[in-house]
Amino acid sequence: MSKTGLSAIWHDSRQKFEVTELPIMETEADAINVRVEATSVCGSDLHIWRGDGIPEENGPRDPFVFGHEMMGSVAELGNKVKTDSLQQPLKEGDRVVFTYYFPCLKCYNCIRGEFGGCKFRRTNPTIENCSGGFAQYYYLRTPHFVFKLPDEINNATAAPINCALAQVMEAFRISDFRFGDNVVIQGAGGLGINAAAVASDMGANKVIVIDGQKPRLELAKKCGATDIVDMNEYTSVESRVEKIMELTNGIGADIVIELVGFPSAVEEGIQMCRMRGTYLEVGHISPNSMINVDVQKLVANQIRFYGIQHYDPWILPNAIDFLLRTKDKYPLTNIVSHEFPITKIEEAFQTAEWLGSTSGSEVTRAIVTP
Ligand SMILES: [Zn+2]
Ligand SMILES: [Zn+2]
Repeated sequence: MSKTGLSAIWHDSRQKFEVTELPIMETEADAINVRVEATSVCGSDLHIWRGDGIPEENGPRDPFVFGHEMMGSVAELGNKVKTDSLQQPLKEGDRVVFTYYFPCLKCYNCIRGEFGGCKFRRTNPTIENCSGGFAQYYYLRTPHFVFKLPDEINNATAAPINCALAQVMEAFRISDFRFGDNVVIQGAGGLGINAAAVASDMGANKVIVIDGQKPRLELAKKCGATDIVDMNEYTSVESRVEKIMELTNGIGADIVIELVGFPSAVEEGIQMCRMRGTYLEVGHISPNSMINVDVQKLVANQIRFYGIQHYDPWILPNAIDFLLRTKDKYPLTNIVSHEFPITKIEEAFQTAEWLGSTSGSEVTRAIVTP
């Protein structure tokens, strides 16, 4: 294994990435150093990159490395690591997906097996060493959860597993999803497209996807959406809520999932739930995301509102199985539309940025191949 690797460090002060050579972390006995092969530019990354929700008076953040939706191959195994997390023999060069966070195993949530809810969980991007999503290596400290990838799933398809796919699977799992439910998906980015396919596969009656980007809506249709609501056509909140009511016989959706991450989407989406419907809030990772909602309406309509982030490790092999099982059914392999080397990360973000363009962004998911 080489001793250094490239990392893309973001500088608020310069509004630029700096791609720089950093030393690779020493692989401890129970750790794994992963050579990152593909990292998607997730919607969360765009929020972080823009600095959404961070008050201007805070000034520039310290330089940092980010990126979390990734896959890679084993670069070096600690000498105690012989298998993946399902006891499959693991060797250098094997392609893997893994959780990008590391639970503490010693807290109230961890002892209940709720690793995704560990308050002390850590991720591993650093600017001291080469470890990050937008970097050539990611260091899997213990306890790590790592799963070997079958040959049928290529790198570009595998990158979104540990965020876009796993996250929506977890959301629907929490939601008490029932066969025949009508589902509304707000946002047809990487998470939205995966959500359409998962909802369809779970037996939804209607899978209604709302977005303003035509190429994404087209892809959503191929990935399980039964209906789409194009925001260029339905330009007001009222018209979109009305459309959802029309598509659900005036009842409203059983489940609405928010995958946009702007507060107005939440204010809109909860109006689309049926009485006793479920609202799954996933999109908001930025601080200071305030909503203006009449709570009495939530109570009167008995809305089940869930905030969801992270998932437990078992979701990952389940996600791999889903991709294998449905590979001829949904073109989830087509989610990645653009590929950039790490040296062109600036371009990757500029291209992935959709804010401010109403129907222009061709990008469903851009990946960086560090
Ligand atoms: Zn993500
Ligand atoms: Zn813990």
